[in-house]
Amino acid sequence: MTAHLSGDTYPRDNRTWQILHAAQTGGYAVGAYNCYNDDGIIAVIRAAERQRSPAIIQVFPWALHFQGPEFISYAIARAHAATVPVAVHLDHCIEHADVELALKIPDLDSLMVDASTSDPEANMQYCAEIARRAKENGMTVEAEMGRINGGEDGLKTVDMEVLYTHPDFAREFVEKTGVQFLAPSFGNVHGPYPEGGAEKYWQLDRLEAIGQALGPATPLVLHGTHPVSDELFRKAMDRGVAKINLNRNVRDDYTDFVGQQYSRHELTVLKEKAVEVADGLVKLGLPYGGYLDGLTMYSPQYQSGDTKIVGLVYTVKFVPISDTNAPKPNGNYIDSIPKAAVVFISQPAPHINAVYGGLMSMRARFLDAAGVVFAKGVATTAGGSVCRPSQTDVRVQLNSDAYEAWIEPGDYIVADLDGVVCVPANLAEKVLEVIEPIVKADEKCAAGIKEGRTVQDVFKEYRGR
Ligand SMILES: [Zn+2]
Repeated sequence: MTAHLSGDTYPRDNRTWQILHAAQTGGYAVGAYNCYNDDGIIAVIRAAERQRSPAIIQVFPWALHFQGPEFISYAIARAHAATVPVAVHLDHCIEHADVELALKIPDLDSLMVDASTSDPEANMQYCAEIARRAKENGMTVEAEMGRINGGEDGLKTVDMEVLYTHPDFAREFVEKTGVQFLAPSFGNVHGPYPEGGAEKYWQLDRLEAIGQALGPATPLVLHGTHPVSDELFRKAMDRGVAKINLNRNVRDDYTDFVGQQYSRHELTVLKEKAVEVADGLVKLGLPYGGYLDGLTMYSPQYQSGDTKIVGLVYTVKFVPISDTNAPKPNGNYIDSIPKAAVVFISQPAPHINAVYGGLMSMRARFLDAAGVVFAKGVATTAGGSVCRPSQTDVRVQLNSDAYEAWIEPGDYIVADLDGVVCVPANLAEKVLEVIEPIVKADEKCAAGIKEGRTVQDVFKEYRGR
């Protein structure tokens, strides 16, 4: 296993760099989950693979000392063997000795240097030195500029004065140090937020100015996420955040579960069940949550109406006509659409020719298909001269430059005017549990608004905020 993924040169060949730049280009952010033991590492990898999403596993230097550097090597071996991009990152290296240890770990993808307790000039010089040495080892570096308040499990509490990141100096800092990612201080707090929450403390204007000063070359990292609403996460993403550090958000339910169940099961059973709990939470916490980039719902009504289609996916894989070795279907795929299925058509690039038209749609409706979704615009030329259907009900990949997503038989497709989401089969029940109360609350809000009540009023009553 090596940190060098391709023939690219540093830092483009670095796994953390690739994951965060793909996120930034694609307009999403990637969760970086603090793991403390093997359960956490297995849970993150399983969740990422099931969700077909990239992920970052991060550990505090605490683990370097408690379990030993071999534990990080275990995490790296597991992460790099995953079927989706998973990087391993050493979070908050505050002590110089920790940085020294990190730089010696073979194939570690990235580390965070936290010299924020030094004065700003010393922080800059130190980060420049570490960035230079990390480069020699193929690792990328995240630095904290300014000083983020608070503390959390595995991390010392900072009780010095908070220093907010100044947008002008952020650019100078990145240029002079050569670090690849920046964790700004804009009112975010480590550990639980005081009364009023992140909504009260975050200075979004400052975050926006920092994002603009740095541009897409330097993805931002969000620290202090306990708790942060989805809405606020989206605002952070819009302002250049590509890495979202998640610690207690995922860990608490895992430790609660272990605490409640430890006397009821043998250790092996307990660990397996606890990983499932953490895995489920990580999945739901993944910021882009199954959203299929670039897809629109095509039928029953193209880009109009309030139709929402939900159904088991029926995948149809098209292959280029030149691929004569690919399997041939039994009859026309359209005749074997299962009732209430959502047809997902995967066409090889470039998507110039149409693969679906009126007659197909008519037959699909006759068979009670819930709808058809496919990608990237609409064409008028029939596709027969360049591609053909090959297999149905097979795993297909979404054509996206932004990230890697796969649609598997058994998954559910949910589509409306806002876009198309793929829900992995094993997650469907859990997602419904989460979604149902939200949908119910939304219906009550809508009824209230129709009666003339204010949004603030109905949100307060039915959504609790
Ligand atoms: Zn942090």
